[in-house]
Amino acid sequence: MTQEAPPAAAPDLATGTADVIVVGAGPAGSATAYYLAAAGLDVLVLEKSRFPREKVCGDGLTPRAVKALTGMGVPIGESDGWLRNKGLRIIGGGGRIELDWPELSSYPGYGLVRRRRDFDETLARHAQKAGARLAEGTVVTGPLLDDRTGRVTGVTVQQAEDGQKLERNVRGRVVVAADGNSSRLSVALGLRKRDDRPLGVAVRSYYTSPRHEDDYLEAWLDLWDGEKLLPGYGWIFGMGDGTSNVGLGLLNTAEAFGKIDYRALLRRWLAAMPPEWGLSEENRTEPVRGAALPMGFNRTPHYSRGLLLVGDSGGMVNPFNGEGIAYALEAGEIAARTVVQALARPTAAGAEAVLHSYPRQLKDAWGGYYTLGRTFVRMIGHPAFMRFATRHGVKRPYIMRFTMKFLGNLTEARGGDAVDRVLNAVSKMTPAA
Ligand SMILES: Cc1cc2nc3c(=O)[nH]c(=O)nc-3n(C[C@H](O)[C@H](O)[C@H](O)COP(=O)(O)OP(=O)(O)OC[C@H]3O[C@@H](n4cnc5c(N)ncnc54)[C@H](O)[C@@H]3O)c2cc1C
Repeated sequence: MTQEAPPAAAPDLATGTADVIVVGAGPAGSATAYYLAAAGLDVLVLEKSRFPREKVCGDGLTPRAVKALTGMGVPIGESDGWLRNKGLRIIGGGGRIELDWPELSSYPGYGLVRRRRDFDETLARHAQKAGARLAEGTVVTGPLLDDRTGRVTGVTVQQAEDGQKLERNVRGRVVVAADGNSSRLSVALGLRKRDDRPLGVAVRSYYTSPRHEDDYLEAWLDLWDGEKLLPGYGWIFGMGDGTSNVGLGLLNTAEAFGKIDYRALLRRWLAAMPPEWGLSEENRTEPVRGAALPMGFNRTPHYSRGLLLVGDSGGMVNPFNGEGIAYALEAGEIAARTVVQALARPTAAGAEAVLHSYPRQLKDAWGGYYTLGRTFVRMIGHPAFMRFATRHGVKRPYIMRFTMKFLGNLTEARGGDAVDRVLNAVSKMTPAA
C-alpha cells in the first residue's frame, strides 16, 4: 500500500534541540510522538531506518490494539488497507474451537491484520501530521549526559550524507527510548534486561495460500520437541493479499529454549499441514526471520535520569499471548501524557516528580496482570502441565471463552459479566512488581 507523502520536509538537525526526543519510530515511538505533538510540544523522532521498512512480526492486532489505534484517530477502514478478523481459532490436544472476540463496551468486537511494512509507516506519518518532526536514516549512537548529575540531556546521532557519516548532538528536555527489544540507549544507561522476567523468541515468514482471507486468527498449541509439548504456539494469519503470515514462538521456560532450531521446527510443523493450504517451501515468499519478544516488564525501571522506556525497550509484551503492539501504543499515550504534565511544571523538581510517576502508572495499568503472566509462563514451561491444559481446555467452550478474555487482557474495566469480575479482581489482588 502506498503511503501519503510526509507532511513536512525532513527536519534539519542542525538546530539540534527539541522539547522531547523520541528514539525509534515503531508503534511505541510513533504513538508517543503523536500524543506529544497533539499536545503542542516540539517532538523530534529519530529513526535509524527509512520507511517503508520490514519488522519481523505476526502482523496480528487484537481488539485492544484496535481501540488504541481508534483513540489516535488512525483511519482503519478496509479501504485504508486493513483486514478485519472476528476472533481466534484455537487448535490443540485433538480439539478445535472458534471464539469470537468478546462484545464489550471497553473494546471493539473485532481485530485487524496489517503488514508491519505498511503499519509502521502509517503510524509514523500520522505522528508527523500531528506535528512531530521525523528524521529517518538517523542512528542514535548514545546518550548525552550532564557531567554533574548524570541526567540524559540528549543523544548523539549519526547520519549518512553524500557517502559521509555525519555525527551530531541533539538536545531535549526529556528523551524517550522507543528503540525496541535491544534498546541500546537503555543499555548505555545501565538498564539491562532482567533474567527473572519472561522472554520469547519467534520466527515467521509469508506463504501464498488459499487461506489468505481467513477471518479468524488461527493459533496452534501443538508444537512438539520429540515427546515434549513446548510452551508457545504456532500461528496462521491470513493477510488478505494472497499470503498468510505463518510463524511460531516459544517461551524461555522451555527446556529447549535457546538450543532449538526454530526454522527446522517451523518446517516440521508446516509439513504436517494439509497440502491444499499451500504452506510449503515453494510457496514461501520471504526468508524466515526471527526476533525476541521481551515480556512482563523485563527491563526496569521505566524511568531513569530523564529517560522514559516505552514498548519493547521496557519489555512490555503481554506474557500470556505475545502481543506487543497494543501495549506499545498504550504506553506511548501514558508516557506522552506524563511528559506533557512534567514539562508544564514551573520547577525542575516538580517536573522530575511527575516523570517519576510513569513507572507507577504502568504498574497500575498492567502490573498485577503481568505478575500473573510470569507465573503462567513458568507453569506452561512444564510439558505435563501444557499437555493437560491443551487436552482438557480446547474442547470446553466455557473454559476457552474465559481463557481468551484472560490471555487477551480483554475485560470490561467496570462491571461486566462474572468472568470479567473474577479476572479483574485476580489481576488487582496480585501485587505489581
Ligand atoms: C516474530 C514476532 C511476531 C510478533 N507478532 C506480533 C503480533 O502478531 N501482534 C503483536 O501485537 N505483537 C507481535 N510481536 C511483538 C511486536 O512486534 C513488538 O512488541 C512491537 O514491535 C514493539 O514496538 P516498539 O515500537 O516498542 O519496537 P519496534 O517495533 O522494535 O520499533 C523500534 C524502532 O526503533 C528503531 N531503532 C532501534 N534502534 C535505533 C537507534 N539506535 N537509532 C534510531 N532508531 C532505532 C528501529 O529501527 C525500529 O523502527 C511479535 C514479535 C515477533 C518477534
